[in-house]
Amino acid sequence: MSYSAEVYNTAEREMERRRTEAEQALARRREILYARSPRADEIERQIARTGVAVAKAVLDGADIRQKLEGLRKQNLALQKELAGILTGFGFPDNYLEPWYHCPLCKDRGDVDGKMCTCMKSLLRQISYDQLNSCSPLSLSDFDSFSLDYYEKTLSGGGRSSPYTQMMSVLGFCKKYARTFQPSSSRSLLFQGAPGLGKTHLSLAIANELIQKGFGVIYVSAPTILSKLTRENFDLDYKPDSNATEQLLADCDLLILDDLGTEFVSRFTIAALYHILNSRAILSKPTIVSTNLSISDLQEMYNGRIISRIIGNLDRLEFVGTDIRQLKRKRRQKPAET
Ligand SMILES: [Zn+2]
Repeated sequence: MSYSAEVYNTAEREMERRRTEAEQALARRREILYARSPRADEIERQIARTGVAVAKAVLDGADIRQKLEGLRKQNLALQKELAGILTGFGFPDNYLEPWYHCPLCKDRGDVDGKMCTCMKSLLRQISYDQLNSCSPLSLSDFDSFSLDYYEKTLSGGGRSSPYTQMMSVLGFCKKYARTFQPSSSRSLLFQGAPGLGKTHLSLAIANELIQKGFGVIYVSAPTILSKLTRENFDLDYKPDSNATEQLLADCDLLILDDLGTEFVSRFTIAALYHILNSRAILSKPTIVSTNLSISDLQEMYNGRIISRIIGNLDRLEFVGTDIRQLKRKRRQKPAET
């Protein structure tokens, strides 16, 4: 996986921040310990002096074995006394070591010249954050989704009321987020007119999964397809540019909001097909939301794309009356009466 220089630089800065944080926290722990036990301060100084004495003994040469043995015993006794002080205060054994974010690489990002797994996941996370930066990800959760706006009466020949239908959609989405597995969760199609909660529920799923540590990319179809178009046709664009496509194919869950509102060209159709197809081949779940009906989608895209969209996604139908309009009406009501 290749990332842009900007992503690498951000990751390096984050690693440096983590190291500094671990070292500063250690310095603060030392101060606390020394304030409680000046003897601990003295012992640490003595241990440091033992190190110097060892170097000196080596340089002096004479009686070296005996001297080193004496220093080793002294050092062990000091370590033991220090450990006793730490235990006495109920501090852990590693109280006087830096508590790194990643003990494997000590927050340096590599182990024996190879990139550490923590650096790999950091690079991936930074790239997701960049792609997600335009989405109002922190704004929606399941608790703020209200069923009050959906009618409880049957209308338009439906088998269940909008309220009942949306209650089951909400329940499905909650369970989906709760039991999500990147390798086995199904792909979904959220379909329905604007203002029925498709964006709200897909953001709620994204939010919950991000908090659980999954790699989620949430993008609107127009935004991502114009980004891919720009990257593809911009001659100045650097060759690491297929990073966006790789991220879209690679993340644990891709949420593609507002399909059908983008500018359609031969390139965007091919790009869309490529994204959905790569994920389907890897059995990675995707959630697509659209205001369009299947026949509208068929008119907009060619048959290959439609069979990919419909064939592999479980359809969830969003029904009711545009919530934004209802909210507006409810707000205006007191003024009218
Ligand atoms: Zn590491």
